[in-house]
Amino acid sequence: MKTIIIGGGIIGLSTGWQLAKKGIEVEILEKASAGRSASWAAAGMLAPQAEMGFEDIDLFYLCRKSLELYPKFLEELYNDSGIKIELERTGCILPAFDRDDSERIRRLYDFREKIGMPVVWLSGSEAREVEPFLSPRCTGAVWIEDDAQVNNRLMLEALKIAFVNCGGKLYEDHEVEKINITNGRIDGVNIHGINIKADSVIVAGGAWSKQIPGIPKNLLPPVRPVKGQIINLKLNDSCRITKVVRAPDVYLLPKSDGRLILGASVEEMGYDVTPTAGEIFRLLERGWEAVPSIYDLPIESIDVGLRPGSRDHMPIVGDSEIEGLFFATGHYRNGILLTPVTAFELSKWVASGHSSEILNGFGISRFYKETV
Ligand SMILES: Cc1cc2nc3c(=O)[nH]c(=O)nc-3n(C[C@H](O)[C@H](O)[C@H](O)COP(=O)(O)OP(=O)(O)OC[C@H]3O[C@@H](n4cnc5c(N)ncnc54)[C@H](O)[C@@H]3O)c2cc1C
Repeated sequence: MKTIIIGGGIIGLSTGWQLAKKGIEVEILEKASAGRSASWAAAGMLAPQAEMGFEDIDLFYLCRKSLELYPKFLEELYNDSGIKIELERTGCILPAFDRDDSERIRRLYDFREKIGMPVVWLSGSEAREVEPFLSPRCTGAVWIEDDAQVNNRLMLEALKIAFVNCGGKLYEDHEVEKINITNGRIDGVNIHGINIKADSVIVAGGAWSKQIPGIPKNLLPPVRPVKGQIINLKLNDSCRITKVVRAPDVYLLPKSDGRLILGASVEEMGYDVTPTAGEIFRLLERGWEAVPSIYDLPIESIDVGLRPGSRDHMPIVGDSEIEGLFFATGHYRNGILLTPVTAFELSKWVASGHSSEILNGFGISRFYKETV
């Protein structure tokens, strides 16, 4: 049995690695460099609790399941790659600076408390005890102790090594030009006009997943690119924040490699990946309002990535009515967080032919059922 995965981002690499571990012959075809698209630009927050809105309860449970799987995932990754990646329980603080913010985070707090999440309400001065670099204008905050983060860039390196160590084949600069389907089942994919045979194909092309020719019209994943810009500052003694600060319209995320990430814009700009003055200005201004001492920090770099945003902002993971055609895309703002659950569950599904209960409701059929 041979599986081809289209796309060498965090989703393709992790699913490929798990399949290769099960003894399946796997090839990952990546049109550019593996692990250099959205998965590279990402901040690496694993924040199911801080991230979720009121309407996202199914997604929240999937994200929380994935966070639970992270320790097992990282241990296996260490065994197969020799690279140790820490699950950093940095904790996350959501500060309020005026009455509007206060009302907003009070609603978030009430909702989270109602569904049994461990959240704590802090006064302004308590918030500054937790994170002393917060602005003295902070009037109150929500504290979420067990949200976490990882070094996603190191994780991508480890995944490439683990995948190859387990027998997988990674081909970079190999753009899939077409998916070939014969009599309702997968036949293979075209590279340079030649059909490479496969029993199954997983579409893990991130923001480009809808662009791959050959997918039947009624199964095209409704995924679009959602541009995100981040600024990498360099922490020094003038600002050594240790907690994730999620202020209105900006987050500040201290990384163990010495960066302080300010992110992220959310823009509908097609496939444009140009950093722009307006968004960078806005992130800096919002970041400075929350943590004034970022003012003197050096700017290291700016990164731009394209999130694969589905129509309902939930991931699209699972099989389709074409035998052997699977999707693993649309992870939008949570692709790093959702990596373990996607990789473990989808690899079991592809290898065994038995669908995953955990992924129930996240398949492509939820979109095309709407129109029939
Ligand atoms: C600024 C920013 C911050 C983020 N922060 C976080 C965060 O803190 N936490 C979190 O959980 N998530 C975060 N995300 C979201 C996360 O990055 C994405 O959900 C995740 O990286 C998606 O992974 P992917 O493998 O699907 O896509 P990608 O990493 O984009 O990989 C897809 C790959 O497919 C390849 N490809 C496409 N078409 C073809 C083809 N025809 N042939 C061959 N290859 C092809 C592309 O070249 C690309 O390498 C962030 C995203 C951005 C942009």
